[in-house]
Amino acid sequence: MIGKLFGKKKTPATHGDSASTERKSGGKSPASNKSGKSAKPGHQKSGNQQKTARSNHRKRKAKPAAPQWTIDQFPVPEMEGKTRFHDFDLDDRLMHGIADLGFEYCSPIQAGVLPQTLQGQDAIGKAQTGTGKTAAFLVTIIQDLLSNPITDERYAGEPRALVIAPTRELVVQIGDDAKNLTKHAGLNVATLIGGMDYNKQLNQLKGELVDIVVATPGRLLDFQSRRDLFLDQVEILVIDEADRMLDMGFIPQVRRIVRSTPNKDHRQTLLFSATFTPEVLSLTEQWTYQPFSLEIEPESVATDTVDQKVYIVAADEKLALLKNIIKLPEAKSVIVFANRRDQTRKLYEGLRKDGVKCGILSGEIPQNKRSQTLARFKEGGIQVLVATDVAGRGIHVDGISHVVNYTLPEDPEDYVHRIGRTGRAGATGTSISFACEDDAFLLAPLEEMLGNKLPCEQPPVELLS
Ligand code: AMP
Repeated sequence: MIGKLFGKKKTPATHGDSASTERKSGGKSPASNKSGKSAKPGHQKSGNQQKTARSNHRKRKAKPAAPQWTIDQFPVPEMEGKTRFHDFDLDDRLMHGIADLGFEYCSPIQAGVLPQTLQGQDAIGKAQTGTGKTAAFLVTIIQDLLSNPITDERYAGEPRALVIAPTRELVVQIGDDAKNLTKHAGLNVATLIGGMDYNKQLNQLKGELVDIVVATPGRLLDFQSRRDLFLDQVEILVIDEADRMLDMGFIPQVRRIVRSTPNKDHRQTLLFSATFTPEVLSLTEQWTYQPFSLEIEPESVATDTVDQKVYIVAADEKLALLKNIIKLPEAKSVIVFANRRDQTRKLYEGLRKDGVKCGILSGEIPQNKRSQTLARFKEGGIQVLVATDVAGRGIHVDGISHVVNYTLPEDPEDYVHRIGRTGRAGATGTSISFACEDDAFLLAPLEEMLGNKLPCEQPPVELLS
């Protein structure tokens, strides 16, 4: 990032609290890296660790051979009012990844933040999932790491970029996107999430030098406290879904993590949040340095490409209605949301009894099972996924035809998140919300937030039989 810092001092990085504690332990420090930051006074490693690090250095993935691929293989015509990834002079190895994913034109958040973030400026983005924010920060990271390679010795467990996100599903999704985008870049990505085998995840850090770490806060701190991960070489820090981190009580952990990275005027920080509450704004003030700020309105995310229906039903008609919706030929890939875990469990069991290929994502399902279910859903092996809001927030699957709100969400923001699971990546989708005597009162605050009335109707008779 050196050389393109935006108004930042180019003095050596200073270290946060935990780094200065480590410094006291004595030991040998390796030479400074090429990024111009200080030698690693914070990292006092044992002889063994140094050996591992050196052997890792040898094991570093060979730079991909002279690229066969050229940008000519990815022609995208200029279009009025649209920004292309070609317009940013990105490294060909990154453009190759973008081409493989078929991203031709930038989404509004990408077109809005990339001109600033590619210059090294901090940014705060008010944006929800579905806006393309993940690619916005990943392109920033990858371009930065590629244009500032470190040729000096590096150590195991020292990422150059760190992304933290509140849920395991979101971390897995960001990690997958990062692996896709770095496919031709020779950069290594590690994902660290709770509920999965620690040692298996540790192998990602021991086998190769790691460039980008994507993690949930708790598991990241586990790795740090066991001295398997060091954050004082982080050049870019991304905090995703900051509002959800607050809701889930993760802020004290995130604070500890942020403190272990270089100071804010020595790193680039990008922070995303679906809402800008006073608490979120206070965190952005503490963690970012002269940030550029951008808001992407939720309406342009979800509602434009989603046909929203509300069916007024009696509570005891809901199950039959759901089963008939699932049988519709156009209902190829369906997510059913319910507010509580026990409701998702009951629905899942009811649908399975009927022979529906169905899966469940809720907090009571172990993480590895959830990941398998999500993978099967993506592959089309599962037609219907039943989920709670927290578990469902991490579902980033294109081609979902229907979202069914079996119960209306209590928090209107969750409605936007739910229906945003369909109508993604330029496709159109349908959302059907069931409103019954128990929860119809939740429609008014929902309509108020959306700024428009939702069309309420009786379901067609054939769907009730
Ligand atoms: P996100 O908001 O990051 O979850 O992204 C939403 C979806 O849009 C993901 O499936 C991405 O793969 C896709 N996407 C992101 N950027 C672009 C782009 N520029 N063109 C087409 N699809 C995109």
